[in-house]
Amino acid sequence: MIEIRNLHFSYRNFHALKGVSLRAEPGVYGLLGPNGAGKSTLMKSVVGMLPLQKGEILINGKSLTRMDRSEKRLLGYLPQHFDVMDFVTVERNLIYAAWAHGIDRNEAGKAISEILEITHLGGKANVLARSLSGGMRQRLGIACALVHRPRVALLDEPTVGLDPLQRAGIRNLLLELSRESVILISTHLVEDLAAVASRVLVMNSGLIAFDGTVDDLNALG
Ligand code: ADP
Ligand code: ADP
Repeated sequence: MIEIRNLHFSYRNFHALKGVSLRAEPGVYGLLGPNGAGKSTLMKSVVGMLPLQKGEILINGKSLTRMDRSEKRLLGYLPQHFDVMDFVTVERNLIYAAWAHGIDRNEAGKAISEILEITHLGGKANVLARSLSGGMRQRLGIACALVHRPRVALLDEPTVGLDPLQRAGIRNLLLELSRESVILISTHLVEDLAAVASRVLVMNSGLIAFDGTVDDLNALG
């Protein structure tokens, strides 16, 4: 599904990724690691927000650099501080996201009603985004990132600021989506991963320092 080979990235003279390799099939993958480890840089590289300097990124066997705009629909990304559009409805937010992901007008209605259902926001389609609770806003952000049903979704800290019950809601949602997609979530909370992640990657100083199951990680103490 996704394969990353020996990925390096430098911001001017700061070497932020120092040779990251990874292969992943559909499932939930956790990305842990201290601030500055390179998690966001890795995600931005995969979605093409940063240029590929050295290494390779393949989606379904095809190099990211050879993909045209329509093929990039295979990817979805929730940035770390994603702002929904507050003064329009939930549905409008999704219409915009669908358009931005290149879904044509005829397909958009169906895609939007499906993602509203999956993210349990169906009853909120016509309310202004500003009136949503924190948990619902977060689910709207995720819905916007996934409305086009990407095969590879990268979610940067999707549970920040949520209480344990809301985090459980997000976990269920990601688990549901991971049947057909690779879901890579960065988080500071191992609890976010325990029940759902098939694998956990721990980054440190631009490298993957650990790659294994949550149980393996816990066994390390
Ligand atoms: P994480 O997401 O794990 O906190 P980042 O990928 O955001 O880590 O950052 C990795 C390193 O790259 C950090 O040391 C950070 O200061 C540096 N960095 C991030 N963005 C930039 C930038 N635009 N310019 C220069 N350095 C940056
Ligand atoms: P709140 O509105 O209290 O801030 P949420 O919007 O996150 O919290 O969740 C509202 C309700 O919907 C909660 O009872 C939560 O358990 C439930 N919920 C949230 N996400 C899901 C989900 N993916 N599947 C089932 N129920 C969910």
